[in-house]
Amino acid sequence: MNPENRLVGAETDGEDADEQAVEAALRPKQLGEFIGQPKVREQLDLVLRAARARGGTADHVLLSGAPGLGKTTLSMIIAAEMGAPIRITSGPAIQHAGDLAAILSSLQEGEVLFLDEIHRMSRPAEEMLYMAMEDFRVDVIVGKGPGATAIPLELPPFTLVGATTRAGLLPPPLRDRFGFTAHMEFYEPAELEQVVHRSAQLLEVHTDPAGAVEIAGRSRGTPRIANRLLRRVRDYAQVKGHGVITRETAAAALEVYEVDARGLDRLDRAVLGALLKLFGGGPVGLSTLAVAVGEERETVEEVAEPFLVREGLLVRTPRGRVATPAAWAHMGLTPPQQPSGPSGSSSAAPGGPGQPGLFGA
Ligand code: ADP
Repeated sequence: MNPENRLVGAETDGEDADEQAVEAALRPKQLGEFIGQPKVREQLDLVLRAARARGGTADHVLLSGAPGLGKTTLSMIIAAEMGAPIRITSGPAIQHAGDLAAILSSLQEGEVLFLDEIHRMSRPAEEMLYMAMEDFRVDVIVGKGPGATAIPLELPPFTLVGATTRAGLLPPPLRDRFGFTAHMEFYEPAELEQVVHRSAQLLEVHTDPAGAVEIAGRSRGTPRIANRLLRRVRDYAQVKGHGVITRETAAAALEVYEVDARGLDRLDRAVLGALLKLFGGGPVGLSTLAVAVGEERETVEEVAEPFLVREGLLVRTPRGRVATPAAWAHMGLTPPQQPSGPSGSSSAAPGGPGQPGLFGA
């Protein structure tokens, strides 16, 4: 299985142009339309209102959180609310300080610069960014060796919106230069239901409340996944149903795509299934588990496990991976009986069956 093409993957790696276009069409355009994340919304609203009242640019904003939770969307909202243009780029696209200097020097006054995956920027670019964020100035180095000269370049005031999935990887000097930092959490099911209803309306497909509940429950706390599942369910409803998304159509459609009631897909279920059926629930080492499901170690560790851990279905222990009671229940399997040796479980009541008195007084 190619993990990049997972229906329940939150990254955009496997998306085609069509999918990106739909995603763009579904983005909320204003803060008032943005669902969930109440604290982030409230705080950001204050930051933007204050900046507008001052007639200045907003402070630099750092957004952290898992893929698909709305970081790009929020950066566009910031620009829209400030009535400013936006430039979008990413850390990996900026490998040389010169790349960054070219972008910074062409910004308009008040422009929002969205820098996705900011933790993946090169070190020299990062250092240039420090000065740009603080003083709206960069030193462009011209020439090489002893003859190299730094030419200071004034920049118009701008707002940097940095996004990262790993806030912990940002060097403190960079983190400290953001005036406002927000951490985005996974969404509650009720919030995802709202996302589904909103997107269904934009896609002009009728979804009844129970249908939205069914999709939301399988969306792994992530709006991007909710929107993606909605589109697949819509296809199914069009082809097999009356075009209306009910609980039954949503469940049947997602069964076809092998996304179960909790949002686990084939890979997740294969990992969990092997752990339970072949290794009695563990502990088992990661490499052994990976071989058992015919996947790379990294795929199991980085693609399947984070969600299983988050859902409380699997735990990583020093002795290996262990399934939780919830995993047995979810997969409809019964855990093996714990061997009740003579050393006595609490069930071996004194005088009861078993070997009473063997270790007794
Ligand atoms: P990120 O940049 O964090 O990976 P995006 O901003 O690209 O995530 O969001 C992915 C998709 O999810 C977008 O199409 C957007 O429509 C939708 N989305 C994200 N957050 C929300 C939200 N709070 N309300 C409604 N839709 C959202």
